[in-house]
Amino acid sequence: MGECINCQQSLSGGDLTVPWEDGDNKYAYIICPHCRCKNTLYGFGEDD
Ligand SMILES: [Zn+2]
Repeated sequence: MGECINCQQSLSGGDLTVPWEDGDNKYAYIICPHCRCKNTLYGFGEDD
């Protein structure tokens, strides 16, 4: 799942939002459980 772009801690346990769940988010993102920074997941759900 990777690590946070802001605090470099694991994103495990973070709050995942899938593409379009908010209505206008083209990409999935995870809210870091440590610093609450939004980490965009480009390519989420795609084969490559
Ligand atoms: Zn963080």
